[in-house]
Amino acid sequence: MAPHVVIIGGGFAGLSAAKALRKADVRVTLLDRRNHHVFQPLLYQVATATLSPGDIAAPIRWILRRMKNVRVLLGEASRIDVDVRAADGALEVSVSDDGVGIDPARRRAGLGLRGIEERVRDLDGTVSIRGAGGAGTTVTIRLPHAAVGEAARARAAG
Ligand SMILES: Cc1cc2nc3c(=O)[nH]c(=O)nc-3n(C[C@H](O)[C@H](O)[C@H](O)COP(=O)(O)OP(=O)(O)OC[C@H]3O[C@@H](n4cnc5c(N)ncnc54)[C@H](O)[C@@H]3O)c2cc1C
Repeated sequence: MAPHVVIIGGGFAGLSAAKALRKADVRVTLLDRRNHHVFQPLLYQVATATLSPGDIAAPIRWILRRMKNVRVLLGEASRIDVDVRAADGALEVSVSDDGVGIDPARRRAGLGLRGIEERVRDLDGTVSIRGAGGAGTTVTIRLPHAAVGEAARARAAG
């Protein structure tokens, strides 16, 4: 039986992931607590009454209607495992899954991963992505303690 990929969230990241799997030999379940995708960059126009909410929201099922290997479920994920630890003067955050894996050499530089890399670089940290070969993927972010403290102080100061 084809591997089963579960995507949590039908935002930009979840929809791109589902679309990227269009021709893959996998069964995809996309779960979202809302039945619609919100095009967030146009929220300002809704707030200023230039557009109505319906103009920037579309049912996730309709967006993915041509994808025969995807089913969309309404539901809320209640648990995700994230590992946070202090290691050699740094804060290390790891998120792992047991899916088919992302081959770091072949991945496309999408906005999500690029955004993570830019923000981590600003804090003098590093990002590593291990995966491929059907053994799942682990994304590990390492931030020096000094940078974490500085970011927290800046946030507290407003
Ligand atoms: C006002 C505004 C303007 C922006 N303008 C720009 C811009 O001009 N350019 C740009 O690049 N970016 C912009 N962004 C940022 C961009 O919208 C986000 O980076 C992008 O939406 C993040 O995508 P995402 O898929 O990670 O998360 P989201 O789009 O937030 O999607 C997350 C999805 O997961 C679902 N979900 C969350 N928790 C659960 C759960 N527990 N169980 C099930 N489902 C769940 C939510 O319902 C949602 O559908 C803007 C954001 C805002 C708010």
